[in-house]
This record gives sequence, C-alpha cells and structure tokens, in this order.
Amino acid sequence: MSLTDCHCHLYALARVETAILRARDAGVTKAVVVSEDQPSMEQTLRLRDAFPEFVLPGLGIHPVNVFSMSPQEWERAFFFLKSHAQEASCIGEIGLDFKYATTEKEREKQRKALRVQMEVAADNHLPINLHSRRALRQTMEEAIAFHRNTGLPALLHWFAHSEKLLSRTNREGIFVSVGPSILFSEEALNLAYTIDPRLILVETDTPVPFKGKSASPAWVAEVAERLIVNYPQNQVTSKKLYDNAQRFLQKA
Ligand SMILES: [Zn+2]
Repeated sequence: MSLTDCHCHLYALARVETAILRARDAGVTKAVVVSEDQPSMEQTLRLRDAFPEFVLPGLGIHPVNVFSMSPQEWERAFFFLKSHAQEASCIGEIGLDFKYATTEKEREKQRKALRVQMEVAADNHLPINLHSRRALRQTMEEAIAFHRNTGLPALLHWFAHSEKLLSRTNREGIFVSVGPSILFSEEALNLAYTIDPRLILVETDTPVPFKGKSASPAWVAEVAERLIVNYPQNQVTSKKLYDNAQRFLQKA
C-alpha cells in the first residue's frame, strides 16, 4: 500500500523526521505539505529539500492570513509565491474563511487573494488545495469555475459537510478529501460515502488535534482503512486512493 496525505502542515510538528518515519512504516509514502504565509512557504521548500521523496510542496497564502497582512507583506509573500510556483506540486492552502473574515471588505480581500492565487495555479498548470470554513458554497463555486476554465484539478479539503454540495462536486469532478474526523464521528464517515469513489482523497490536516492528540501523516493509514472497510460495496480501495492522488497531482 502506498498512501498520500493530501493536506498537512508538516512544518508545524516539533519532530518532523520521526513523523515521516512513522508515516512510512504505516504505508504513507508521500504528503502534500500546504503552507499559509511566506515563512511557511519557505519552511515547506526546505522540508522538500530535506525529504524530497516524501514532501510534495504546496505553496500559498491562507485566507485567514490575507486580511491581517500589510500591503507590503502581501506584496512580498505574493512575489515569493509567483517566483517559486514552478517548484510546487500544488497551490495551497488557499480559499475563503468567513469565520475570520466577517466584514464585506475583509471577505472581498479574501476573494481577490483567492483569485490571484488561482491565476498563479493556472499560469503554472498546478492543481489547487482549498480551505472553505463557513464559506462552503462560495469556495465550491470558485473551485468549479477554476476547474471548468482550466481543466486543472481542484481539491476541497475537509469539505464533507453536506450531501447536497457533495452531489454537485461529484458532478463537476472536484476532489474532496476526508480526514481523521471519520475516525471519531459516525456522521462524518456516513457523509464520506456521498463522495464519488473516483474523487475521494485522504488527509490529516496535521497538526490539527483530535481527542487531544496532534494529528500526524501516519494517521492517513487509519483514515484510509476506515474508508476501505466501510465504504459501501467496497468501492474505495487502496489502489483507487492511490490513483485518485495521482490524478489530483497530474501524475496519471
Ligand atoms: Zn490546513
């Protein structure tokens, strides 16, 4: 078995090397490491240099950071993103977060930041890795427009909240990743069965804690197993998860 953690913040762990060894032991051979700002983009590229077999770098500016940055910080981070995009496996973590952007002005700033980063993805023929807190429908529409206009893959990470929206992402060919929440919540697991088996991916969003424990890429093995064992009619297999990750990363 060869699994990919399709969304994690590996640089946020204190002991990265141990986490990678544990992941490999569990059959998790690669991780898409998404970033949030300029320092984490730099950390992600350094991790890629240190662990080139394991780290697939995602470069981007997280929507929560967008409106707190000064214009100068934004210019510098955006310039860094554009000049290093060719080294990335995807653009992310980008998206919308209306929990933190509460005014229309802040939300507009997030939408603008998302669009210019999607342009960077399009210009460099890269897939996108999206965050959508409290802006599910809006982020989904952006993902669909991006995928329709460019033909490039789009992934909505931790998106399994509504059957109605998932039936639309299935129709539009948008990838959706599920994470450790399916280990702890029957409801989250049941909702994951709505995701098309050809569009489902697995992730951890490391280091997000579950039940007081910080997630780590190795957990993707448990997430995958729970899906493989329970998904109706055995429609999700480790081969399918592998193939889906390859298609998301444009390697198939
Ligand atoms: Zn994340």
